[in-house]
Amino acid sequence: MRCEICGKKIVGKPVKTKIDSSVMDVCRECSKFGKIIREPSRPRPTKAGVRRAPKRSRRPMETLYEVVEGYGEIIRAERESRGWSREDLAERINEKVSVINRIESERMEPDIKLARKLEKLLKIKILEKFEAGEEERIEVGGFRGATIGDIARIKRG
Ligand SMILES: [Zn+2]
Repeated sequence: MRCEICGKKIVGKPVKTKIDSSVMDVCRECSKFGKIIREPSRPRPTKAGVRRAPKRSRRPMETLYEVVEGYGEIIRAERESRGWSREDLAERINEKVSVINRIESERMEPDIKLARKLEKLLKIKILEKFEAGEEERIEVGGFRGATIGDIARIKRG
């Protein structure tokens, strides 16, 4: 009995190895390139009606921010404590007064960029991180099945 991959004479029992969906009798050395088939292979019991968990959408890991509740009041209070009019504030952040009006009355939520500008200028905190939910990280195991192509390269080399 010779190994189907390297051609060496197999001492002892050949190892049945699955490589790229074909099963080969290989030596112990070559068996590490594929998935060793354990015999006898028992079919897994399948339960009727068992559904796989729905796939979660995978978002890239990033920190997300949202504008806190009551941001309008925070901005107005801070602006007034500084004795600034809405016009003053608008000028300082390079926005229209109507924008300030809408933000302070919370009819408009500032975007992150604008919120940051306001935070910096007024030394307030109106952005907060929010958890995007538990990210499911799928660990890729250490084993990487070799393909016929890999084996061919190994043989040649
Ligand atoms: Zn071999």
